[in-house]
Amino acid sequence: MIAKPPRKPASAAASSAPAPPAGADERPFWQRKTLSEMTDAEWESLCDGCGRCCLNKLEDEDTGRTFFTDVACRLLDWNTCRCKDYRNRQKKVPDCVRLTPRNVRRIVWLPPTCAYDLLAKGRDLYWWHPLVSGDPDTVHTAGISVRGRVRAGEETVPDEELENYIVSWPGQVPRSGSKAAAPGRKPAAAAPAKTPVRRS
Ligand code: SF4
Ligand code: SF4
Repeated sequence: MIAKPPRKPASAAASSAPAPPAGADERPFWQRKTLSEMTDAEWESLCDGCGRCCLNKLEDEDTGRTFFTDVACRLLDWNTCRCKDYRNRQKKVPDCVRLTPRNVRRIVWLPPTCAYDLLAKGRDLYWWHPLVSGDPDTVHTAGISVRGRVRAGEETVPDEELENYIVSWPGQVPRSGSKAAAPGRKPAAAAPAKTPVRRS
């Protein structure tokens, strides 16, 4: 996975995994394996396709705090919330970060809904994750993805204007992942005090 920091993947691994032998631990792979024990297919399938990590972010140089914006990476498809060229993403977007079992524990800018971040912190996946629901659309219907919430593409927003696009919702988890969770685009409470470091 990756991300603009990170992202993207195919959401199918679980169903294609061979059935465990009799007597084996029948919990789904993300509950019985550590991140480093997962196969590549399992690892990729952890991405729920929310697209939140592909939003540009700002970092307060004094506090290190991350601020999300609703400005999308140039390669993000605003409707599918997937990367338009996942295979070549790092050639086209040099600051796109490839997530690994090692760096995911150090990265502080992943959204709180991100499956990689949740598992790295010993938590479980939410009901709307495609691996749990069996439906790739639940990440959208539950109000988790960026669909309908992107305000601009990064190619149209100069660095000095990016803080005008700060929003808080990418850093929040809708109440219990309720299907009724509202999207909304609330402006962040506070803007970075110092000149932000642009991250996408
Ligand atoms: S290149 Fe952009 S859209 Fe593609 S995975 Fe990276 S951050 Fe997301
Ligand atoms: S934030 Fe969403 S799109 Fe990005 S890596 Fe995590 S689950 Fe995938």
